[in-house]
Amino acid sequence: MEEDITTDLHVLQSHLDGMLDRVQHNSLTLKRFQVFEMRLLNLNSLAEMIDHLLEDAKIFFDLDVISFCLIDEKAEIAGFLSDDDYDYQSNDGLILLEDKELLKSTFGISPTPFLGSYKQSSCVGFFPKLDRKPVSIAIIPLSRRGKYLGSLNLGSYKPNRFINDMATDFIEHMVSVVSICLENNLNYEMMRRTSLIDTLTGVNNRRFLEQRIGEEVDRGQRNEESLSCLFLDIDHFKSVNDTYGHQAGDYILTVVAGVIKQQLRSNDVLARYGGEEFVALLSNLNEPMGYDIAERIRKSIEMLPLAYNDQKISVTISIGLSTYQPTKSPAFSTAEISTELIHSADSALYIAKNNGRNRVSIGELVLDITEKTRLAS
Ligand code: GH3
Ligand code: MG
Ligand code: MG
Repeated sequence: MEEDITTDLHVLQSHLDGMLDRVQHNSLTLKRFQVFEMRLLNLNSLAEMIDHLLEDAKIFFDLDVISFCLIDEKAEIAGFLSDDDYDYQSNDGLILLEDKELLKSTFGISPTPFLGSYKQSSCVGFFPKLDRKPVSIAIIPLSRRGKYLGSLNLGSYKPNRFINDMATDFIEHMVSVVSICLENNLNYEMMRRTSLIDTLTGVNNRRFLEQRIGEEVDRGQRNEESLSCLFLDIDHFKSVNDTYGHQAGDYILTVVAGVIKQQLRSNDVLARYGGEEFVALLSNLNEPMGYDIAERIRKSIEMLPLAYNDQKISVTISIGLSTYQPTKSPAFSTAEISTELIHSADSALYIAKNNGRNRVSIGELVLDITEKTRLAS
């Protein structure tokens, strides 16, 4: 009798221990989840969010593999990431999808998480770049306002880590948080982008230039590299509008912007400064190199076979060039140097116009030491 009671007590005790273990485990998971979520909510860019999901989530949730699909029908996400120098192509966990097909064929119209074994035929699209595929997986569709955004794909080498009848409330909560953060980040990137881009020509606008020029000057200073600036203005553009119409003028502006961009390197800055004026910043290019680029641009515009409504139109461009030559201990602020760089290129442009247009003029070299220091050295 006594023995029976002791055995019952032991069984009860071990049940209780097991339950306590589970409670403790759940409470730890919840805490980890809250930390993960707080970090996610505090991230400021899409690139940071991708890294957090792919790197931190793996550790937080003790996963073997993780991947993240994003629907990018217009290659906008690829553009945002490239603009931020994020090398998305070599990130094995990030998959940019050109359409919704993979998600539609997996989930149909009800975007609920799929938990179960990995099957090559239906699951490879979610883990395409991984050499070692997971054994059990959770594919979690991300959607907002009835629209698919992508999916978060968790994988384990353990067969029982994700099984069909597992409770998914935890995962579903995480998914709504991830979806909201993703939507916010995408909206923010879109707004940031459109507010810095000229709608007619597709190149950056003056606001973007004003943000970037200081960074370029600072970079030049830090690396002791020259920074060249081109002020470009289409010649007699008013008469193009007057002769061929405003729409033809718009078309020419767009083509000219494209030609200038083609002649620059991908990391150079090109902005529409106003009307028919553009400014380019050419990093690590001294005056003679800047002059060569300016001449190349001028010639390519002059040679351009332009036509609008079957009417041939020829345009030329005048360019003012200025170059900032940094020294180790600058006497002027970044803002002062930036203003001087634009001012010098603008003055050179004025000279190019006065000397007959369709030419490049070189402005005064922009130094960051005072005249007194320069003469003394
Ligand atoms: P210059 O050689 O001295 O630069 O002469 P210009 O005629 O190019 O210069 P002006 O400043 O007299 O005229 C600029 C013209 O550019 C006038 C304006 O109508 C035109 N323009 C400015 N923005 C746009 C635009 O977005 N579309 C079109 N079609 N024309 C524009
Ligand atoms: Mg002008
Ligand atoms: Mg002009």
